Amino acid sequence: MRIAVVGTGYVGLVTGTCFAESGNTVTCIDIDTGKVNKLTNGEITIYEPGLEKLFLRNLRENRLKFTTELADGVKDSLLVLLALPTPPGGDGSADLSAILKVADDLGKIINDYKVIIDKSTVPVGTAEKVHTAIGANCKTEFDVVSNPEFLREGFAVEDFMKPDRVIVGTSSQKARKIISELYAPFMRQDNRIIFMDERSAELTKYAANSFLATKITFMNEIAILCEKFGADVDLIRRGLGTDERIGKRFLFPGIGFGGSCFPKDVKALANSAKGVNYEFKILQAVMEVNEKQKLSLVPRIKKYFNDDLKGKKIAIWGLAFKPNTDDIREAPSIFIIRELIKEGSQIAAFDPEAMINTKRELGDHIELRGQYDVIKDCDALLIATEWNEFRTPDFDKMSSLMKRKVIFDGRNVYELQKMKELGFYYESIGRKTVSA
Ligand code: NAD
Repeated sequence: MRIAVVGTGYVGLVTGTCFAESGNTVTCIDIDTGKVNKLTNGEITIYEPGLEKLFLRNLRENRLKFTTELADGVKDSLLVLLALPTPPGGDGSADLSAILKVADDLGKIINDYKVIIDKSTVPVGTAEKVHTAIGANCKTEFDVVSNPEFLREGFAVEDFMKPDRVIVGTSSQKARKIISELYAPFMRQDNRIIFMDERSAELTKYAANSFLATKITFMNEIAILCEKFGADVDLIRRGLGTDERIGKRFLFPGIGFGGSCFPKDVKALANSAKGVNYEFKILQAVMEVNEKQKLSLVPRIKKYFNDDLKGKKIAIWGLAFKPNTDDIREAPSIFIIRELIKEGSQIAAFDPEAMINTKRELGDHIELRGQYDVIKDCDALLIATEWNEFRTPDFDKMSSLMKRKVIFDGRNVYELQKMKELGFYYESIGRKTVSA
């Protein structure tokens, strides 16, 4: 099949590459000329495990192309996938301007049957809006399908190739058949496509992300209670997770959820609910608790240093909003760093993949160096992302490099007993503080 993917960010590049990998010819379109030039020249623009190899192979085989011209990519394609940003507007509602602009342009370009597939996360009713926007300029037959994407950054290729399920919202039998063919290579073991109407598909995506954000937030509140009651959240997590109705995943407490999806999708769903005169109270609470949780280590660090962080050297391990990605959008680390800088601390930070993006975001306000360089002479180390390489570091080296053996762990990476034995002062989330 010939496929156009409009928007070549995390979702667009992974989707385009994976569909090329299953034999389709894919043209990815983006308005960012720099990005298109890099990709055309074989330079990958995001970090995603396993993606670069597939990207280079399909580029070489001419199944994957990049352009800034919408018409070039769309004219010969049967399928046009929209992987465009839907950032929160001022009131939290999803900003659909990129999608509606492209829909408007598509109406002027399309001159034979196409299936327009919306992979972006969009509020209920967007497929109808896209249909109207295209139809305003177009007399040709076309279908608009809602096919929200569920891939996780850090596991995007794996998730795309072996999805738990594919949600497809369409009322067109013709589009349904085409989409079944498109996903057939990924459904060889069993067919996991769930067909539904467009509105339900759009809402399924928001429901999934909001549910997961709620699960994390629930555990963060249990962790707060653990600290107050002197209980251990790790034990509670195991006690809870072994109940099959609850499940083991998404029960790890920490310094809040970030990323480009959960915060924006929770806000957008709460806002959509308001639009139909319903106050989604749980989501309101999720947003409030998460805002506090992101900064919850700052007062604890301040307290440790008797309310005086001026000139204190704080090292940060982990900047990405979660491991295995270079994405720092809404990352708790960035909020924390900004607060610590306001308090007068000097920050040196390390992340295996997210330093370039952090440099772009924070400029010269912090130093970015190697994992052990940043802890040299530091007054405290803060762990903001649970990258694997932080799990078993060289503790002897850490002890000799750090000015004070003080760790604030926002991701509960270490065992309490071990930290005690090693002589660290160690504060984590929902567990007892240990010191030598
Ligand atoms: P992104 O910001 O990484 O990428 C969007 C791309 O679209 C950018 O490269 C941008 O230059 C391009 N773009 C903007 N306007 C354009 C236009 N008019 N024409 C062509 N290109 C244009 O965004 P993303 O993370 O890939 O997310 C895209 C959508 O998918 C969002 O709705 C998001 O909520 C959803 N989603 C994201 C993830 C994720 O893990 N990132 C997962 C599932 C769903």
